[in-house]
Amino acid sequence: MTDIIATINQAVERYKACHNFTHWRPRAALIDMDGVLYDSMPRHAAAWRRMMMEAGIDIPEEEFFLYEGMTGEATINLLFNRHLGRSATPEEVKVLYGRKSEYFKAFGDRIPMRGADLMLDILMKAHIRRILVTGSAQASLLDALNHDYPGAFDAAGRVTAHDVKHGKPAPEPYLRGLELAGCLPSEAFVIENAPLGVKAGHAAGCLTVAVATGPIPEKVLAESGADIVFPSMHDFACNVRYLIDNE
Ligand code: CA
Repeated sequence: MTDIIATINQAVERYKACHNFTHWRPRAALIDMDGVLYDSMPRHAAAWRRMMMEAGIDIPEEEFFLYEGMTGEATINLLFNRHLGRSATPEEVKVLYGRKSEYFKAFGDRIPMRGADLMLDILMKAHIRRILVTGSAQASLLDALNHDYPGAFDAAGRVTAHDVKHGKPAPEPYLRGLELAGCLPSEAFVIENAPLGVKAGHAAGCLTVAVATGPIPEKVLAESGADIVFPSMHDFACNVRYLIDNE
C-alpha cells in the first residue's frame, strides 16, 4: 500500500515539475468511455475488422486498438488513404461508420468495466466533477451512461465526437472538457486506456492516468505520455483516493 502511495506522489511531483506548476489540486476528472467505463474495445475492434473487410481492406483485429480514441471518420480516412490511396467521401464515411455501429450494437448488452462504478462513486463523494470525453458518436453507449452509472455524468458534462473538430490524439477533446469543467489543467486529471487518448490528455497539459484494460502493454501507455499507469480499472479504483487527496 505504501508503495502505491509513493508511486502516486512521485507521479504528481514529476507532473508538477514538468509543467512548472507549484500545486496540483484536482476538481474534475476527464474520463474516456470505451475501455475505461465499458469493456467494449474487443467488440469495437471486431466490428471495425468486419466492416473494413467488406470494404476490401484486411486489417488484423489488434490493430484497431491502436486507433482507439480517434473519431470514426479519422480512422476510416487513415485506412482508406493507406490502402486505397484516397480519402473516403463523406457519404462513404456515413455508410461505413453506420455499418460498423450496427455490427457493434449486434453484440448485445453493454459490459461495464469492473471497478468503474467504484471509481465514480469515490469521485462523486469527493465532489470531483466528472466530465465524459469520448471520440465515440454512438448514441447506444452515450444514452446508456445514465442507466449504468446513475448520477455520475450530467448532460452538460460530455464531450463527444460531435463536439470537436480534431479528435484524439489532438488535445482538443480534453481542452473542451477542461472548459466544460471550468478548470485549468492543474485542476483536473484525465483517465484513459489507449495510446492516442493518453497523448491527447498529455497534450492538453493534464495529469494523465492510464488504465491497461486491453492488449496494449503498460509500457506503451507510459511511453505515450501517461503520468501513471494502473494494471486495471479495479486497481485504479482501489487507489484513486490517494491521487485525489494529493496536494
Ligand atoms: Ca478508450
